[in-house]
Amino acid sequence: MYANALFDFIESSPAAPVALQTVTKRLEKAGYKRASEAEVATLAEGKYYFVRGGASLIAITLPSAPKRAVIAAAHLDSPALRVKEGASRVGAYASVPVERYGGPILYSWFDRPLSVAGRVMLSAEGGVEERTVNVDRALAYIPNPGLQAPNNAATGATFNMAKDMLPLLSVGGTERDLLSAVAASLGVDADRIVSHDLFFYVRERGTAVGKEGEMLLCPRLDDLACAFAATEAFLTAKPCDTLQVLALFDHEEIGSATERGADSAFLSDILSPFMRAGGASFFESSLLVSADNAHAVHPNHPELSDKADTPIMGSGIAIKWSASHSYATDARSAAVFRAVCEKASVPVQVYQNRADIRGGSTLGTIADTHLGILAVDIGIPQLAMHAAVESCARADVTAMVNALRASLEARIVRTDSGYAIG
Ligand SMILES: [Zn+2]
Repeated sequence: MYANALFDFIESSPAAPVALQTVTKRLEKAGYKRASEAEVATLAEGKYYFVRGGASLIAITLPSAPKRAVIAAAHLDSPALRVKEGASRVGAYASVPVERYGGPILYSWFDRPLSVAGRVMLSAEGGVEERTVNVDRALAYIPNPGLQAPNNAATGATFNMAKDMLPLLSVGGTERDLLSAVAASLGVDADRIVSHDLFFYVRERGTAVGKEGEMLLCPRLDDLACAFAATEAFLTAKPCDTLQVLALFDHEEIGSATERGADSAFLSDILSPFMRAGGASFFESSLLVSADNAHAVHPNHPELSDKADTPIMGSGIAIKWSASHSYATDARSAAVFRAVCEKASVPVQVYQNRADIRGGSTLGTIADTHLGILAVDIGIPQLAMHAAVESCARADVTAMVNALRASLEARIVRTDSGYAIG
């Protein structure tokens, strides 16, 4: 059961560049070596990882003559508040101008301890130096407008990103206090900070709740729960004649269409040499499993789901369907994935949108546009998607690890009539 290991992973992954380090530390401990994308075609059997843009990662376990690729994919970014360029607003108080990254549910961020993490560029002799940073202490909070404000959460009103959501850093203070705190945590002089990709994050550790502690309440479960499960599955999968791939992307929350997002050529650049060498049977026997959390049936709002009985937290992972193909699942990939899960005794459920409610999307279809292989979208059923603190069932984290491990170990072969799954 993974509750504490998951909470540790999420605590040490407050923003994508830092989450990437959390994963690469584990990979290196397990013997994976960093390689450059330029050398992928020349790599011998072994364990490697590649990084793009300092925040997206692909790791591979490469056998001598791979027969197929199986990819466990998830994303490392979460909805957040990006620190804007320029000085803090200083008067009686010092507040930090921010903008929305992805789609956080704004009012859920009020009155929580916030900290800052991401990447800074420092001036250095002969150039600039890149550093990731996590200040990792309660540095600010966003005060609720309170009872006197007509625009209060109790009225159901929405909040204004530019006015209501500025994190409060101090009483008094100076325009450079935020960057000074960031610099101090790096042990450098604040004047050396040239530019930054910094994000406010909710600095709270997860906690198990419920009669048996069966539910997990934690920030950034979307999608760090799946990133954690994919990493865990990848590192514990038995090597076989499959090219086993872990793909963790930045920028899913803002649409994936960036140099390092799932809509980039990153994954296809890494896989292409193996696809070419393996020929048609490699291509047709490969599988992309895209893991991103799914909306569970809400106890107070079952009407928001297509059916009131699926997916339920704790009853297994959700296979996601959409006629618009905002999810990559089709009859073939669902059948193959179900067979893999059945063999591994992992329970699966169905997620599909109510026909009159527009659903979400994720990276499966986007990544597969560049690959063209069998692809399935799955997720851990969760509540409060994109709130500052989200929840899921402890049992489903285990189910996700087991499902992804079984997928990476599966010997899938395209046959004349369908697929053989060994
Ligand atoms: Zn997600």
